[in-house]
Amino acid sequence: MELYLPLCVMEALSRLEQAGWQAYAVGGCVRDMLLGHTPNDWDIATNALPAQTQAVFKGEKIVLTGLRHGTVTVLLQGQPLEITTYRVDGPYSDGRRPNYVRFTACIEEDLARRDFTVNAMAFSPRHGLRDPFGGREDLKGKKLRAVGRPELRFQEDALRVLRGIRFSACLGFSIEAQTAAAMERCAPLLGCISQERIEAEMMKLCCGRHTSQALEQYGGLLYSLPVWQGMSPRGWYSSILSRLEPAPALRLAALLWEGFGSKGEQVLHGLRCSKRLKEEAAKLLAFMGTPLPASRYEAKKAMAPLGQTLGGLALQWCAAAAPGGEEALLLCRQVLAENVCLCRSQLAVSGRELTAAGFPTGKAMGQLLDYLLEAVLREEVPNTPEALLSLAKSCRKNSLST
Ligand code: ATP
Ligand code: MG
Repeated sequence: MELYLPLCVMEALSRLEQAGWQAYAVGGCVRDMLLGHTPNDWDIATNALPAQTQAVFKGEKIVLTGLRHGTVTVLLQGQPLEITTYRVDGPYSDGRRPNYVRFTACIEEDLARRDFTVNAMAFSPRHGLRDPFGGREDLKGKKLRAVGRPELRFQEDALRVLRGIRFSACLGFSIEAQTAAAMERCAPLLGCISQERIEAEMMKLCCGRHTSQALEQYGGLLYSLPVWQGMSPRGWYSSILSRLEPAPALRLAALLWEGFGSKGEQVLHGLRCSKRLKEEAAKLLAFMGTPLPASRYEAKKAMAPLGQTLGGLALQWCAAAAPGGEEALLLCRQVLAENVCLCRSQLAVSGRELTAAGFPTGKAMGQLLDYLLEAVLREEVPNTPEALLSLAKSCRKNSLST
């Protein structure tokens, strides 16, 4: 079988091999290649110890943040590659992290510590596919099956329960019966997983092509997740998510809105995700929480805080989820398509220009700009420098004469 690795991965594998080590592309990237998908990231496994890997890539940019787990990140042709020494996880006593990791010289042992059979394959052009647990067969059958004894594997690390649902959401795979039963029994252990790890998987779960289906089938297992446990069944059983573009802010906002309604924003603030994602999701939630615009003016007011990109996402939600939203959708779509002035910074005159024309600065300037914006939004005046300046002057005349 021929799988085509990117040049930087080929180079990393051959440099390790030339130095006398074994090296494979491993895990999610092999799964994705076999599915014909483009992998998110490239992981390499090797029997070289981290210091030996560093020696092989001497002169290249190397990041050592994962060293505790045996990972050396090498930047080759601008692409970060995580190169991890074959390892076996020691016993788990807290349902989260192994007490220690031990390096091994055997790729099969490394594959055995991985969560699902489809994630437990390794590939190199020289040795072909290493697939000791039937991952390829399960890919064909679209099945997620735990490697080894399912119950034990979920007890070791309960995050795997959530990862199972995430892969089902992203790949549309079903979960093999014994694996699913073990996931159900181990779901309460999700309560002891750190919020960061949960949120990273939750975001991927949210953005799958089959998210609604997966949540409907397995969402019930997530009742012991911190933060998410307060979600109403409406959230888990919502069919809306899969109908929205997989933009993280949009999917997250929609899930929070379905599951928490007006409390969604409060829940959002408790999540451990990036500031930018929070800001964007908060704007979308605010849109979801206000009555749909019923006039062109209201459509502009609704789109103003969102702008073109988030506005476009909000409209997808409108189309999928807002009953009777056709009229609002039309109005908002038109406003975005015309690219009309929605906020102060889009006015045809700036504060600086008004100051140069003799208008006072400070609070009075803010009020003047708001006044001009309101007139433009209501289409009482065209958004041109001349028209705005003359409106500003007449406004000053009026205020002087009163
Ligand atoms: P993605 O496409 O989102 O990157 P992935 O399967 O590559 O998905 P990663 O988190 O990048 O997931 O992990 C890489 C590989 O490491 C997995 O394919 C799996 O083999 C292994 N792995 C990751 N997390 C776990 C875990 N909690 N338990 C066991 N194996 C894991
Ligand atoms: Mg990966």
